[in-house]
Amino acid sequence: MSNNNNDLTLSAPLTGPVLTLGNVPDDVFASGAMGDGIAIDPLNDCLHAPCDGVIIHVARTGHALTIRADNGAEVLMHVGIDTVELNGEGFALLVKNGARVSQGQALVQFDLDRIARQCKSLVSLIILTNGERFQLRALAGQAVKVGQPLLQIVARSAASVEAPVDNSAGEASVHVRITHRGGLHARPAALIRKTAQGFSSQAQLHFGDKSASCDSLIGLMGLGIGEGDEVRVSCRGKDAEAALQALVAALSAAIKEAHHAPAVVAPRPVNTEVGVLQGVCAAPGLVCGPLLRLTGIELPDDTGNHVADEQLQRLDVALEQVRSEIRSTLEHARQRKNVEEEDIFAAHLALLDDPALLDAATGAIEHGSAATHAWRDAIQTQCAVLQALGKPLFAERANDLRDLQQRVLRTLLGEAWHFELPAGAIVSAHELTPSDLLQLSAQQTAGICMAEGGATSHVAILARGKGLPCVVALGPEVLDVPHGQRVVLDAANGRLELAPSDARHAEVHQIRDAQKLRRQQQQAQSQQPAHTTDGVSIEVAANVASSAEAQVAFENGADGVGLLRTEFLFVDRRTAPDEQEQRHAYQAVLDAMGDKSVIIRTIDVGGDKQLDYLPLPVEANPVLGLRGIRMAQVRPDLLDQQLRALLQVCPLERCRILLPMVSEVDELLQIRQRLDELCVALELTQRPELGVMIEVPAAALMAEQLAKHADFLSIGTNDLSQYTLAMDRDHAGLAARVDAFHPALLRLIAQTCAGAAKHGRWVGVCGALASDPLATPVLVGLGVSELSVSPLQIGEIKDRVRHLDAAQCRQLSHGLLDLSSAKAVRQACQHHWPLS
Ligand code: PEP
Ligand code: MG
Repeated sequence: MSNNNNDLTLSAPLTGPVLTLGNVPDDVFASGAMGDGIAIDPLNDCLHAPCDGVIIHVARTGHALTIRADNGAEVLMHVGIDTVELNGEGFALLVKNGARVSQGQALVQFDLDRIARQCKSLVSLIILTNGERFQLRALAGQAVKVGQPLLQIVARSAASVEAPVDNSAGEASVHVRITHRGGLHARPAALIRKTAQGFSSQAQLHFGDKSASCDSLIGLMGLGIGEGDEVRVSCRGKDAEAALQALVAALSAAIKEAHHAPAVVAPRPVNTEVGVLQGVCAAPGLVCGPLLRLTGIELPDDTGNHVADEQLQRLDVALEQVRSEIRSTLEHARQRKNVEEEDIFAAHLALLDDPALLDAATGAIEHGSAATHAWRDAIQTQCAVLQALGKPLFAERANDLRDLQQRVLRTLLGEAWHFELPAGAIVSAHELTPSDLLQLSAQQTAGICMAEGGATSHVAILARGKGLPCVVALGPEVLDVPHGQRVVLDAANGRLELAPSDARHAEVHQIRDAQKLRRQQQQAQSQQPAHTTDGVSIEVAANVASSAEAQVAFENGADGVGLLRTEFLFVDRRTAPDEQEQRHAYQAVLDAMGDKSVIIRTIDVGGDKQLDYLPLPVEANPVLGLRGIRMAQVRPDLLDQQLRALLQVCPLERCRILLPMVSEVDELLQIRQRLDELCVALELTQRPELGVMIEVPAAALMAEQLAKHADFLSIGTNDLSQYTLAMDRDHAGLAARVDAFHPALLRLIAQTCAGAAKHGRWVGVCGALASDPLATPVLVGLGVSELSVSPLQIGEIKDRVRHLDAAQCRQLSHGLLDLSSAKAVRQACQHHWPLS
């Protein structure tokens, strides 16, 4: 019910008695801190739209939403008091964020009884959140019915907007350092805006000589505030102190950002050599081939005058489709344990819901734009802001936005990712996006060249992960190279050679051939056992998670399976495997390995590893909780079932059992005893070997006592690093520091080997350190005799072993224990045992 361009009558969203804010049983609402408004004690169970408008915010838990009326007034509707604690239970949202709704439309259905029983109050709030532009007049009497006039919203005069009434009521300001990784870009800025929206005070950020209102996301991002920068935040209004406190908390709350490599962003290099474009290496490698250019989607001019509802719906459907595509990419990444890919696409999912984008696109659609153009423009506005900042980390996030632009446009236009490229092509583009990269890698592309981009961008991280040579920041000239021209991409040196001579071409082929040959030689010898030059035998086994991977490991020359992570055998299912099914799965791994032995680790759930069919109690510190062997404390039946399945594989002498997360001898003794009992019950005369993982410092320090009762020890350097250094192994910000080359780790490995030697037991390493050829001489030197590595690296690690002198490794590696840092150890390793 819009009375004129600015004034508006809100109709009652609920039926029931009307209360003034002062009578609401909640201090924050009653004080007006959230804005001026009114309350209704509802007698019905459905919240309706008080006016025509767009839903601009929906609480995750469904208990509150905000509508922006056509005159710009923003109205928060909050059902009940403290209802957030129901965590969504009892609320059914009938609309989505971004949806256009009409006055009277049902928005949220709720369970009146449940709220009455479980929450402080049913009293529901209708609050004007942008009171600086509008003011309220109550229209209702003591009670209202849905649809009856409730409040009149009147625009303030320009003069009163410029000088808000509560200006003098309070003013506060404080300096704060930004801890958000990557600075105040889209997501943290959206958080700040959201926080500021909860107060009636006017909040501003000041940085350098610029200021921006906390209401404006673009304004906030436009300040170009980086991580670690100090800013001043000021609030003016009656709730200035409270707003300031909330903003300081939001500004200094570090959000986990997508994982990036350290920020080593070089400025665009200058091309000095004729016929060579100079860029920045994002992923090394040397390749030659035809250069083929990819282009993005170009839209024709918008004819305008589209029906807003239709376009909003199209956008909604497209966004939902892209969301579900990204979710499935995420799921794949999760299954493959590809943390980098997972982080990147999780960030995309969050960006897709960024209110700044949705608001801008919906706003444009309401003014007659097509969904396609509205979406493109919303993204481009944000990209322009990010790029104008001159800060590489911000500019690189613009590429993630462009990825979402292309994906949503493609969906809106009903187009598929359509570039058909011959295998071996080198692809050039203005800037490729993460999803382009996944497609290109699947099409056997040989290399990537980009006019823009940075070495820390998500696409660079993905390229490194896929081993796809990639150079960024080559400049616009790369786009002028004729389609199909033969080029050489020397990615390690950031060079794109535009007119390689035949001789150069031949040389590149030669180098590639030599690398291939070396790999082939390693592969050819991979079936042979590995001995050092002085005759010490090192077993190179494989880490696997399935019988298919075991097959690959066997073909690549694995001397056995050094670690079967049984928790991954049954990840993608909702019901627990029974004994029979487990037995088949373990037997399949044994069968895939010929006559080689297989180390099967008992289930290691908890911490970062969760199984759908095995819900675990919520713990404050899951990584320090009931994980690994400790699970037997709470679910002894599960371990019993697994041990019984293991004892029935054939031949049993090829099966070794490994216990994860052991921290004391008793845990081992108890399992040994249980294993004996089960063997008796199954009438087995033979006992499988039983080993323990050394992955917590306590186990390493107790290695000698453990070795007395264990048949072997296997060091899990991933967890051992996490627990020794007290750094989360999955923490993006600490990734470079959770380094198993740390001298503290080497000391624990040395102590483990020494303890095991006292009882004549052997020690293996199955953590990621075993797969790093730089570490091979150190591990051999410290006394490790088995390395369990990723299946594709078996040939390489065996080759490394064959070039080592174990006595020299012994002598030099003990010296590394006295060094002061992981970096120093790495440098010393490079010096003693260079990697060619
Ligand atoms: C380890 O912790 O090093 C290990 C091999 O176990 P996981 O990575 O499965 O925790
Ligand atoms: Mg572990």
